[in-house]
Amino acid sequence: MIINKKKCVACGNCIAICPMGAIYVDQSINRAVINDDACVECGTCYRGMSTENLNPVMVRTIRKVAKLLLFRFEPEPDVCPTAAIEMNELEMPRLIRQIFSDPVVEHKSTGIKGRGTEEVKTNDVS
Ligand code: SF4
Ligand code: SF4
Repeated sequence: MIINKKKCVACGNCIAICPMGAIYVDQSINRAVINDDACVECGTCYRGMSTENLNPVMVRTIRKVAKLLLFRFEPEPDVCPTAAIEMNELEMPRLIRQIFSDPVVEHKSTGIKGRGTEEVKTNDVS
């Protein structure tokens, strides 16, 4: 999983959705970053948030102006406003992490998605 630095506006909405606590906002570049050592490639951040396709430059500008005027311009808490979270092509050994962690990924040898039910793997209750 990657966060596209050109798109991210550092709103921080995706931090709470990661079950591994792998996402943080790097203040030095003012973008959200995924800690690859902690990320298990479960796909929760990618699938679990709604996305909008707002222009990142526009959103950053509005947020800066809003900050100067002492108010905040924040997207809804379950939305990535610029669709900055992207699924990348994985190689070994990250592919193994994905097979064990992502409930919708098909296991290459069995053809079965995930290992266990989606409910077990996401804590969602149906
Ligand atoms: S929700 Fe999207 S725009 Fe906001 S910090 Fe996360 S990746 Fe960046
Ligand atoms: S893929 Fe899963 S573990 Fe990795 S950053 Fe997204 S939510 Fe966190």
